[in-house]
Amino acid sequence: MHASGESIEYPGAVVVKDATNDSNISPAMADKLVEPLDDLRRAANEKKVERICAAYLALRHAAGVNRRETFALADTVLGQPAMDLVVSAYSHRHCFMCDGGTVSCEECDQIGTLDDGKTCVSCEGLGVVECSFCGGTGWADRNTVPAEIAPAVLSRQFCHVKVVLRRTIGVLAGFTICQIRNLPPRKRTPVVAKLMQLHRRLGELVCSSCIDDDKERVRLEAVADKIRVALEMLKEH
Ligand SMILES: [Zn+2]
Ligand SMILES: [Zn+2]
Repeated sequence: MHASGESIEYPGAVVVKDATNDSNISPAMADKLVEPLDDLRRAANEKKVERICAAYLALRHAAGVNRRETFALADTVLGQPAMDLVVSAYSHRHCFMCDGGTVSCEECDQIGTLDDGKTCVSCEGLGVVECSFCGGTGWADRNTVPAEIAPAVLSRQFCHVKVVLRRTIGVLAGFTICQIRNLPPRKRTPVVAKLMQLHRRLGELVCSSCIDDDKERVRLEAVADKIRVALEMLKEH
């Protein structure tokens, strides 16, 4: 691990320098790429999502018209497909205004009921409310994803949602709505938050281009609707 701001004085950066010298890129261009390539390499080592995204943007900018050669070079430097890493990082970027698409209800402090025992009107007894910034998905603004990787990011997120959906349905299969509603707030709130997130993520995905099979789209729309109904039933009226 290296402190940020360190330049090319250590072995890792020498690897970057050697790789750029061995490439078909002009020496002037290679010089321009050393620093952004090294930033990407360090961000990858540290597995920091935001740093990887920022390093990608810087490298892409430095590459200019030599993008294909630059990313072939990045594969060599990283020892793995650079675009896979970048797509994965973008697919994991999250909204900075919430925790996974929801925020704690300030009126009832996640309990769902007020001091007088009445149901909290603000969250309708759920303890959490949807984040208005990301629309409840918990994902970073899709407009910030570079156009060339946007379809790959979307399909990566789709795969992830399908896994979470299977897992969530598996866990909840043994419970009735009434049992979930009667859980203590600290156990119920995370379940509710996960269902709200899944509902919004599915809603966004079924409207997107990542599903090319109409049957699957219809099936997922139906699942999203079932989750919506379950959330309605979990609200205390
Ligand atoms: Zn509340
Ligand atoms: Zn949010």
